[in-house]
Amino acid sequence: MNLRKRLRKIEEALRPVAASCPACLHRRGLVALVTSELLPDGTESPISEDGLPPPCDVCGQVAEEILHIVEEVVTSREDLTP
Ligand SMILES: [Zn+2]
Repeated sequence: MNLRKRLRKIEEALRPVAASCPACLHRRGLVALVTSELLPDGTESPISEDGLPPPCDVCGQVAEEILHIVEEVVTSREDLTP
């Protein structure tokens, strides 16, 4: 087995199955930052204007890795939820 063949085999083994969708392949590996605020009633209010990236038209999955930060505004340390 030559080097090129071995590399291709390793790449295929490392590639997630979902990444085989050609329509969203260019979006794979990207990170989308989503921030929202936790309101006192327990609901989340989005802060970031973009929101979640839209799902792929072909496979229906959100290709990006989502980094979701939830900010909780408290008035005292006792308000912190564990
Ligand atoms: Zn897709």
